[in-house]
Amino acid sequence: MAKVMQLDTFRVMAERVGRFDVQGKRFLIPEMNPVNSHLLSGVFQSYGVKSEVMETYTGLDLGKKYTSGKECFPCVVTLGDILYFMQKEQQRLGDKFNPENYMYFMPEANGPCRFGMYNKYHRIILDSMPGLEKVKITSLSSDDAYDLEGLIPREKMRDFRKAGYLSIMVGDILDRVLWRVRPYERSEGVTDAFILDARKQLTESFAKHSFTGNLSAILLDLEEIVKGAKELIDPSIPRKPLIGVVGEIYVRTHVKSNQDTIRVLERYGAEAVNASIGEWINYTTYEQARLARIALRLHLKSFRLKELKRDLVKYLVFNLTLFYQYMQQRKVYKMVQKYLDIMDDHKIGHLEKVLKKNNVFSFEVGTEACLSISSALEHARHGYNGIVNIFPFTCMPSNLTASITKPLMAKLNVPYIDVSCDGSYQPGREAALRTFMYQASQHFKAHGRP
Ligand code: SF4
Repeated sequence: MAKVMQLDTFRVMAERVGRFDVQGKRFLIPEMNPVNSHLLSGVFQSYGVKSEVMETYTGLDLGKKYTSGKECFPCVVTLGDILYFMQKEQQRLGDKFNPENYMYFMPEANGPCRFGMYNKYHRIILDSMPGLEKVKITSLSSDDAYDLEGLIPREKMRDFRKAGYLSIMVGDILDRVLWRVRPYERSEGVTDAFILDARKQLTESFAKHSFTGNLSAILLDLEEIVKGAKELIDPSIPRKPLIGVVGEIYVRTHVKSNQDTIRVLERYGAEAVNASIGEWINYTTYEQARLARIALRLHLKSFRLKELKRDLVKYLVFNLTLFYQYMQQRKVYKMVQKYLDIMDDHKIGHLEKVLKKNNVFSFEVGTEACLSISSALEHARHGYNGIVNIFPFTCMPSNLTASITKPLMAKLNVPYIDVSCDGSYQPGREAALRTFMYQASQHFKAHGRP
């Protein structure tokens, strides 16, 4: 009996979690940072998909109700988002509510942590609610660098990937513009309002131009926005200590989950730069190329020709993809840097070299820890005045990052602080950040900033 139930669960996972054709469905995207998901939604809309970004964090209590407290915090927040959305739809539509009209988007990653399990866990919870077992979960995996096969018609996949990647770059740029401008804004609140408006404009731009492949038109819109953002800066405000933010991708970018840590840092005199979303996307492509290279060496040694050929193709494809991604990224950043001195993003190969040189961690272990530890070291080398590691309370890679990076930063005399988040309000958090900013200001006075 137990065996039958197990097989049934596996069948359900295969049938209702995976890559499905999204045409004709309401495609529900969870909000991670305040910009990227909206731009990606614009790309889907351009391809005729009825995509929308769900309201976030309002359903946190629902997320908590259906979890035990041991799950990763992003899993709880996103579960709350989808349950809250469905609850509202059921109330709004009554008898006309049809769960088959919805498709919930929850990507995954392989490796030693639990992100690969969120969509399975969400599936189990949705299945326990009458009717909601019919809401399919669409997933992409870092296993194949988020390949879109099956989600978008094959003949349109290449153009979609290009527009999707650009949406991530542009989202990262808007974030960097926000963090560069807000600490120096002429009047309080103008930058937030400006970025919200820019997000709306650029979502429309992606919805209009992605399908036709006219990505230059999107970049022209971005250029005009960046020119406008520059005007918001009050040049009489002197530059402030520069803080590098690393950590787990969801919580460090989801402002409600991290209780707007960057804004708190700014309140105490910081200019902060968070790690980008693009960094993770580039990492997944780099990782596939790296694994293909290792496999190639093994096949060559044991003279396995069929496997050798297969992995050679993989190696070339992933390297070419990475080359394209870097080229696009460079192009966008360069265009923006004509107007505003935003920080560049790290190259993943360089981060791997940093880890090897310092001999403190390895890409063989994987996870975001290899990006966070190496980025913190790079920030320190470039003269940043402090490092903040933001992560979910029980996050395994981020706790690894904390245990390795803290002593490293102490050795380099760079202020460092861990900010762990689980949805509760910690009374000492603000005092700790304030003390950290005092240390960062001292570092700034002694060494200046990059
Ligand atoms: S990175 Fe951390 S929060 Fe994310 S799945 Fe892994 S353990 Fe959980």
